[in-house]
Amino acid sequence: MARKIIAANWKMNLNLAEGQELIQGLIEVEPKVDSKDIELVIGVPFTHLFSAATQTKESAFQIAAQDCSLHQSGAFTGEISLDMIKSTGAEYVILGHSERRTYWNESDEDVNSKLKSVLEFGLKPIVCVGETLDLRKSNQQNEKVSDQLTKALAGLTASDLKSLVIAYEPVWAIGTGEVASPEQAQEMHLFIRDFLKNCFNSDLADQTPILYGGSLKPSNADDLFAKNDVDGGLIGGASLKVEDFSKLIESRINNL
Ligand code: PEP
Repeated sequence: MARKIIAANWKMNLNLAEGQELIQGLIEVEPKVDSKDIELVIGVPFTHLFSAATQTKESAFQIAAQDCSLHQSGAFTGEISLDMIKSTGAEYVILGHSERRTYWNESDEDVNSKLKSVLEFGLKPIVCVGETLDLRKSNQQNEKVSDQLTKALAGLTASDLKSLVIAYEPVWAIGTGEVASPEQAQEMHLFIRDFLKNCFNSDLADQTPILYGGSLKPSNADDLFAKNDVDGGLIGGASLKVEDFSKLIESRINNL
């Protein structure tokens, strides 16, 4: 069975003090989570990684970077390497988020290269995939996601990918308030699981957490988490308030 994960993506929100306050609030509300049942991840800006990883050390929360450089070190002004990320105590790295693909032209080949490096560093990747509204309207969502996964996972074996987490994030649902229906999410998650089974093996398919992302909030989470192949969520807007994010954690636990 796949691990259950609730992951926050703060994007470019909250200064350091605000982030510390949010994490403190979450630690106070969520002391009883059993890490055997569910993993809790918070994706913070690079500037917050060390502080967040230090603050959450004795808690159920793990920290994620929202991206990493394609390069390992050197003359790449403004870039953040995986060695730097790992040295902060962060454990996860989000890769291929649609905002990076759209605004920074990140390609599937870039995601593949970053994924290989994340795995070499012993960090855990959350690889984001998802179709645009045009592709959904023309019923090409499966082709798009299968193409993204084929390219992102190229050259890797099932044993390389033991720590892989996939986030299905339909682009039309991210930050729009429009959420995929539980049926649309389940259908795509099952499609992704079948993809992993056909391209790798059934152990990897069964063990890979597949998260849903796109306007997840307390009011729609129960129905999504009730679906067999929705292992958890990657949450943007609703992860910025203690009350909303802790309700989403509760909803995942109640639907285990
Ligand atoms: C995201 O940023 O990954 C996301 C799903 O955002 P939101 O929950 O705000 O749609």
